[in-house]
Amino acid sequence: MSSHLTALTIGDTRITLLRAGAYWWDGGAMFGVVPRSLWGKTHQPDEQNRIECGLNCCVVETADHRILIDTGGGVRFDERARERQKMPQPPQLREVLAAAGFEPETFDTVINTHLHWDHCGGNTVDENGRAVASLPHARYFVQRGELLHAREQHPRDAVSYRAINYEPLLEAGQLHLIEGDREIVPGVAVRVAPGHNRDMMVVLVRSGHDTWCHAADLAPFAAQITPTWVAGFDLYPMETIAQKQELFSRAAAEGWWLSFAHEPRLAFAKIETREGKWRTTETRA
Ligand SMILES: [Zn+2]
Repeated sequence: MSSHLTALTIGDTRITLLRAGAYWWDGGAMFGVVPRSLWGKTHQPDEQNRIECGLNCCVVETADHRILIDTGGGVRFDERARERQKMPQPPQLREVLAAAGFEPETFDTVINTHLHWDHCGGNTVDENGRAVASLPHARYFVQRGELLHAREQHPRDAVSYRAINYEPLLEAGQLHLIEGDREIVPGVAVRVAPGHNRDMMVVLVRSGHDTWCHAADLAPFAAQITPTWVAGFDLYPMETIAQKQELFSRAAAEGWWLSFAHEPRLAFAKIETREGKWRTTETRA
C-alpha cells in the first residue's frame, strides 16, 4: 500500500487519492470468470489466493467545496474478520484525512458511490456510545434505491451492508437521498452506473477542458477497463459490461483521467482502446 499522496489537477479542481487502509480478498471473486492465469499477471495472489485491495477514497477540491468520495471500510472489525482479510487494525477515517492535511471539519460534502461496507465504513465514528458523522459538517449523498436495497437485506448481499454506516446519518438529517444522475456541486456530478448493483454511482468532475471519472466498483482495478473483466460480486454483469463499454469508450476518446475503487498502488490512469484491446496509456501511482 502506498502512503504518499497522489494528486491530479483538472482545470481549477484538485483531486487527491487517499487509501483508508487495505484488505486482501479472493482474486477469483474480484475477477469473476477471468482465469487466474490472466489476472495473476497484474495481481500477485498470496498463498490463499487473496489479492491486495486498496480502500480508496478521493478528495475533490473545487473553488468553493471540499468533497470526499467514499469513506473506506472503517474500523469496526473483529479479529476473525481482520485475519480473513489480512487487515491490520485500520486507521480511523479522520486520522487518514488529517494525516494528509485535510481536517475533517473542512469537508462540506461526502458522496457514497454505494453502501457496501468497503465504501462507507468510515461514514460514522463512535462518540460517547453513539455513531455520529465522521465529517461533522458534511452533507452525505447516496442513491435512494441503494438505501432501500441495503435495508432489504437480500440473502445475496446482506453481508455487505451495515446499518451503522448510514442509519445514524439518516436520523441526524445528514444523509441526502438522491434519485438518478445529478450535479452535486458545480463541476462535480454523479451518474448511476448499474451492474455492480442497481444503484451504484460513478463520479464525474469536469473543469476547463478536462474530465476525471471515479469508476468506483464499475472497475475495482485498472485491469478491469476491459469491459468483460467483471467482478464475481456484480449482481448484473451484462449491465456492467454495457456501462463500461459506453463510459470507457468516451474516456478513451476524450482523454479522461480515471480512478478505481480498489487499486492498491495506481491512482490515476488514461486509457485507450484499439482493435478490441483496452490498455492504460498514462498512469500515476
Ligand atoms: Zn461494492
